[in-house]
Amino acid sequence: MTEEYTLDRPTGFSCPECGGVMSSEHTGTLLQFRCHIGHVLTAETMLAAQFAAVETKLSACLAALNERAELCRQMSDAAAAQRQDASSYDAAREEALERATAIKRLLESDWLATGRDYAKHLRGWSART
Ligand SMILES: [Zn+2]
Repeated sequence: MTEEYTLDRPTGFSCPECGGVMSSEHTGTLLQFRCHIGHVLTAETMLAAQFAAVETKLSACLAALNERAELCRQMSDAAAAQRQDASSYDAAREEALERATAIKRLLESDWLATGRDYAKHLRGWSART
């Protein structure tokens, strides 16, 4: 990550059902979120939904990096078959594999109770409309 990225506090959350902007509301001691088309999630359900979204996005990153590594391998092989320099493709493949390894490590690591186990506990969650 470069200095260009900052982690400011988000001004809102997106709905895991439709991607719409959500507003928060307190009902007694219950914190819940409602999107502009009416999906309503408790804070605990939002935690589980966010975790599922993170795992889905990390898995997509892993797949993309793995595909990039394979494409680089094929391009390297093609360059070598034509007796051309394939070193840039080999370096790009290594870079993709290194980053894929980092993502894989994240996917396989343990998360706090608000993570994977909690999402499994709430499996089958659905937004109320
Ligand atoms: Zn929604």
